[in-house]
Amino acid sequence: KKLLKVSNLKSKVEDENILNGINLEVNKGELHVIMGPNGAGKSTLANVLMGHPEHKITDGEIEFDGENINELAVDKRAKKGIFLSFQYPQEIPGVTVENFLRTAKTAVSGEQQSIFDFKFLLEEKMNLLDIDQSYADRYLNKGFSGGEKKKNEILQMAVLEPKLAILDETDSGLDVDATKTVAKGIKKLASKDNAMIIITHHNQILDYLKPDYVHVLVDGRIAKSGDMSLAKEIEDEGYAEYKEEALNES
Ligand code: ADP
Ligand code: MG
Ligand code: MG
Repeated sequence: KKLLKVSNLKSKVEDENILNGINLEVNKGELHVIMGPNGAGKSTLANVLMGHPEHKITDGEIEFDGENINELAVDKRAKKGIFLSFQYPQEIPGVTVENFLRTAKTAVSGEQQSIFDFKFLLEEKMNLLDIDQSYADRYLNKGFSGGEKKKNEILQMAVLEPKLAILDETDSGLDVDATKTVAKGIKKLASKDNAMIIITHHNQILDYLKPDYVHVLVDGRIAKSGDMSLAKEIEDEGYAEYKEEALNES
């Protein structure tokens, strides 16, 4: 059964058309990568899937778990199992990583998380991801390096256990080792019961992730879908070809 089915999805932000008819199907157990030039609409697609209120759907449909979720608010989508990582998480003064994650888990699962049980869950996930236990007591994003912020995104995903995780440029600005750590984390969390959509500019992480599908998004459309060889092709030749195609069609 399809987990996510996006049909002819069009969106607007501040009266500007951004998504121009996206079609995308994602099944459980699959890892999809979306690539594309700056301003193509990749983050917009992620935000529209999550239900960000700045973006208005003007046409088409988002079906999740067999249900049309076009009108569903962000928190309801999160409860249904959609997760979106944030590109630039902010510092939240006085809140520890553990507090933050426990609050998020309570909100998304709809079940109050006891301090004791949650500690246990968090420990288990940090072990899985090779994150030092002291990380839980750090203040959220205070003095975090780029790599530590990204780790927090992966840890968030691990704790919330979404059915569909969307990671928007989780690898940007990371060095080789940090990229590897993030990719390893993603691989460990991927299972036959969930699916992931990873948005990235970088081929390096793709070598580790070995995605099932690669999509090229240009001018608010998916210009081409393929496998890893498509990512290699783009590494060599860039997006010019797809930009022209998108222009000719409009
Ligand atoms: P990408 O992630 O592929 O680089 P974005 O989805 O961030 O592209 O942006 C696509 C286009 O939509 C850009 O022209 C951008 O300026 C515009 N856009 C995205 N979000 C907003 C917003 N909240 N307000 C105004 N314009 C936006
Ligand atoms: Mg961008
Ligand atoms: Mg973006």
